[in-house]
Amino acid sequence: MTHSAFTEVNEKVIHAGEILGLKPGVIAALTSCEREVVISIPLHRKDDIEVLTGYRVQHSSARGPRKGGIRFHQAVDLDDVRALASLMTWKTALIDVPFGGAKGGVAVDPSTLSLLEKEEVVRRWTRSLVHVLGHQRDIPAPDMGTDARTMAWLMDEFHRLEGFQPACVTGKPVELFGAPGREEATGRGVAQIAAATLEKNDVKVKGATVAIQGFGNVGRYAALVCQELGMKVVAISDVTGGIVDKKGIDIQSIFMHKTLESVQAEERVGASEVLEVNCDVLIPAALGGVINEENVGRINASFIIEGANQPLTSYADQELRVQGSIIVPDILANSGGVMGSYFEWTQNIQQFSWPIDKFRRELDSRMEKAFGNVHKVSKKYSVDLRTAAFIVSVERVSHAFEMRGSLV
Ligand code: NAD
Repeated sequence: MTHSAFTEVNEKVIHAGEILGLKPGVIAALTSCEREVVISIPLHRKDDIEVLTGYRVQHSSARGPRKGGIRFHQAVDLDDVRALASLMTWKTALIDVPFGGAKGGVAVDPSTLSLLEKEEVVRRWTRSLVHVLGHQRDIPAPDMGTDARTMAWLMDEFHRLEGFQPACVTGKPVELFGAPGREEATGRGVAQIAAATLEKNDVKVKGATVAIQGFGNVGRYAALVCQELGMKVVAISDVTGGIVDKKGIDIQSIFMHKTLESVQAEERVGASEVLEVNCDVLIPAALGGVINEENVGRINASFIIEGANQPLTSYADQELRVQGSIIVPDILANSGGVMGSYFEWTQNIQQFSWPIDKFRRELDSRMEKAFGNVHKVSKKYSVDLRTAAFIVSVERVSHAFEMRGSLV
């Protein structure tokens, strides 16, 4: 059977919908995407043209304008983007921000693009999709392979076509209508959730060992904040490989390195071996599907905090739960990013800016609230945290969907 990321998300939605007693028609609506746009992006490269494929999938607008990142990665395809768009719907509902869900991407290895080529791809992506975008329609943000700079190009292109509207995209540079705190928000949220999970399970945060896959936006800040909270990061990897130090890696000192390739370390391991390091907390913060049938038996962590989207296949999720690991699902663990995007969006609309301390305080307290709520629901229904998170979000989205009158 071919693996479908969208099917895996939908299995969770269907399960939650059945627990909630939703009508089959409502479940069918929640497991479909409202709109899918596929575009071709002809790119001048060397002395020829290469045609790339770009996507924007809008899963749901039941609770507000659609919201979701843009991923540049060679493995991006329609199924992947559907799954990620759907996850955004459940994430925004779970943390109770007034957005729906969407996701976009381009199937390209971003490391092969020059800066100018990357800018051209983003501008063409924006021109082709401008009719479905906008601060009250669908608001993109960064994801794998894209960053604040990319969002600045997107905003600039959007402004040329539609006029000044900085809330049309989030995750922008602070100098260009970005919000101080947004860049670190996903990783910060992941680290806060890791600490809250340890506390809930009577494990000391101070000195707890952490292994992280990914040293990009999410992994890097998750590592930094875990260290600030007193945890010991014993292993971290990126696409160039991993480093391990049982005494704890000083994240502050390596933070500015673009990759881990040149970082001196006690021990070097392969990029995926970091997942198998013996530790209290494992944070996969790079790709989807990295913990799967092949390596699940070698995972050695009591707590898994999903920094990446869908880092565990359904099979691995089930196996690890049977083994007794506690898994905090992506829609909760990495929701600090879209929470931060919500703060940026509201500030752009009001043309007002929060100091970073206020941003962090609001983020921490809202993440804590979402975490507490998921815990409560998991106890109420006697289910794992992932099922509980889907129960909360599926209930909210289905209510909005039905109240809007979509069924008449
Ligand atoms: P990024 O592009 O900034 O970083 C990705 C990191 O993964 C890099 O360090 C890269 O070297 C590493 N990587 C790539 N392939 C790898 C491999 N085979 N083995 C080990 N490491 C590998 O991306 P990001 O924004 O940090 O996103 C990471 C994950 O978090 C994605 O799943 C994304 O969807 C999710 N996420 C991101 C945000 C956000 O705000 N950026 C929010 C929520 C979820």
